[in-house]
Amino acid sequence: MGIASVNPATGEVLETFTPLTSDEIESKLTLADATFREYRHIPIARRGEWLRKAADILERDQVELARNMTLEMGKPIKQAIGEVLKCALVCRFYADHAAEFLQDHEVATDASRSFVRYEPLGIILAVMPWNFPLWQVFRFAAPALMAGNVGILKHASNVPRSALAVERILLEAGFPAGVFQTLLIGAEKVLDLVNDPRVKAATLTGSEPAGMSLASAAGKQIKKVVLELGGSDPFIVLDSADIEAAAATAVMARTLNNGQTCIAAKRFIVADSVFDRFTELFVEKVKALKVGDPIEESNDIGPLATAKIVEEIAEQVRKTVEMGGKILAGGQRIEGAGNFYQPTILTDIPKGSPGEKEEFFGPVALLFRVKDIDEAIALANDSPFGLGSSAWTNDPAEIDRLVSEVEAGSVFINGMVKSDPRLPFGGSKRSGFGRELSAEGIREFVNIKTIWIK
Ligand code: NDP
Repeated sequence: MGIASVNPATGEVLETFTPLTSDEIESKLTLADATFREYRHIPIARRGEWLRKAADILERDQVELARNMTLEMGKPIKQAIGEVLKCALVCRFYADHAAEFLQDHEVATDASRSFVRYEPLGIILAVMPWNFPLWQVFRFAAPALMAGNVGILKHASNVPRSALAVERILLEAGFPAGVFQTLLIGAEKVLDLVNDPRVKAATLTGSEPAGMSLASAAGKQIKKVVLELGGSDPFIVLDSADIEAAAATAVMARTLNNGQTCIAAKRFIVADSVFDRFTELFVEKVKALKVGDPIEESNDIGPLATAKIVEEIAEQVRKTVEMGGKILAGGQRIEGAGNFYQPTILTDIPKGSPGEKEEFFGPVALLFRVKDIDEAIALANDSPFGLGSSAWTNDPAEIDRLVSEVEAGSVFINGMVKSDPRLPFGGSKRSGFGRELSAEGIREFVNIKTIWIK
């Protein structure tokens, strides 16, 4: 339905938006380009003041911003508040650390002086998804703007209010107009932006087809991209693990954000000796989750963001069960208004079924029984994806093996995968490439210039 805010809990259309015309897009690009020429010379300390102010505004407006996200895409309201506060955190993190991450770096060579300097590139295009409507954008914007770049945002078509809110916050914080602009446009306009010579690089978080399309176009223009795509993260539980803690975390790791998280644990790979105990606890906790309107604080799980997503997840479950998969909890769409799906656990996942290789972007856990750590690691790695991974064990030798043998952008031992501004975030294999957050993230969109002076 074009660009619109639709409440996924009720189906009510809250607001529709007219996409920008070609002339409007052109004037925004012209402004961004002109702004960059000035903005790149603004001292980093000044940019930091504006970003700190943005953090203050996020905190001040947390309730309204969170409510807006919940109404647009259905995340539980308490999680929405948490997301707004995390955006404030990433703003302060880069306000505090960007100068240190980007300072000239002396290197001794045959020159009388040689060093490395990090310079901004210009306009960076961010194509972002609806699942963390504010976080995904701030995690890009905070480092990009601190580095002296300017940003243009093409946000998902179902979260326009959040998209506009980011621009508003950064403007109110003091950033000059043109440093960050939201473009309300459909996906079909993205390639024109990538092809525009004023746009220097792009970052995309979303599905594989979207990533492939953007990266192919960028490749033809020799432009850098960062891709953060899907995942089917393993959650490995071995003999010596604290099973109670593992099961409690498993529920949160699978169902946070109604199960629509790229780094959600999706494949639960459990050693034979603890499988029954883990399964009993996991099923009991999943069945206890309360599904309902996400604006009510007492509900754990809200609706899926769009009607298409709930249909896709229902189809993936249906096919997996038809091929022999067994339902331990849930397994059905909830009839009535809204895109609700029962929190679900599937096991006995058949070879060749969607449950074996596809990403499930909803509250559906795929549970696998394995003999030992060898089988666990082999199964964890038998996936086209390599985003995050979580493993539970108290055996130091097993920890060593998991850390070095699991193919993923991160390995979390005895904890769930989460993003943290202090640590790099990103994937391997078909989950994408490049890193966000930390020092690595801010250095993705800079010209790393070598200076050599005789
Ligand atoms: P998409 O990848 O379609 O959407 C993400 C962003 O990319 C949106 O801004 C979208 O715009 C844009 N986009 C879509 N197609 C193209 C294209 N060909 N070229 C450039 N930009 C494009 O995700 P969906 O919302 O359709 O979700 C589908 C699946 O994607 C999910 O089931 C999940 O597997 C994965 N996904 C992963 C996320 C993650 O965090 N890694 C987040 C969201 C989805 P528009 O909204 O206008 O189509």
